[in-house]
Amino acid sequence: MAYHYDDQNIFAKILRGEIPNDTVLETDHTLAFRDIEPQAPVHVLVIPKGAYVSYDHFAAEASDAEIVDYTRAIAKICAQEGVSIDANEGYRIISNAGAHGVQEVPHLHLHILGGRRMGRMVQPAK
Ligand code: 5GP
Repeated sequence: MAYHYDDQNIFAKILRGEIPNDTVLETDHTLAFRDIEPQAPVHVLVIPKGAYVSYDHFAAEASDAEIVDYTRAIAKICAQEGVSIDANEGYRIISNAGAHGVQEVPHLHLHILGGRRMGRMVQPAK
């Protein structure tokens, strides 16, 4: 089954500049911005600029340049936001995919959460 990407999703609109965002970092292939409803003192969303719906889609089909750019961006954001375990208290990265992952926005995004202890990794389903 081929991956289906809906270019009317809200992050596609952010990438096209149709909706504003609070940018944390922008590189050739990656945009990072603050979540509109932060769940922690640090809550950054990291998205590739390419049209990928989920992490597995990105991992399967993105170019090496996109994957390297995206991965290195995460290190820069963690350092910039003061959550890297190199010098600070750490963070949690989450990427929800599909129905079981309870993904709301169908454009790949990693959540970087930090600035407090996160508690249990997975809550019971509601
Ligand atoms: P998901 O459930 O898909 O993993 O997470 C989607 C995230 O996107 C949520 O944490 C939600 O608060 C965030 N979000 C939804 N719409 C917007 C928006 O227009 N701007 C920003 N910055 N974040 C958004």
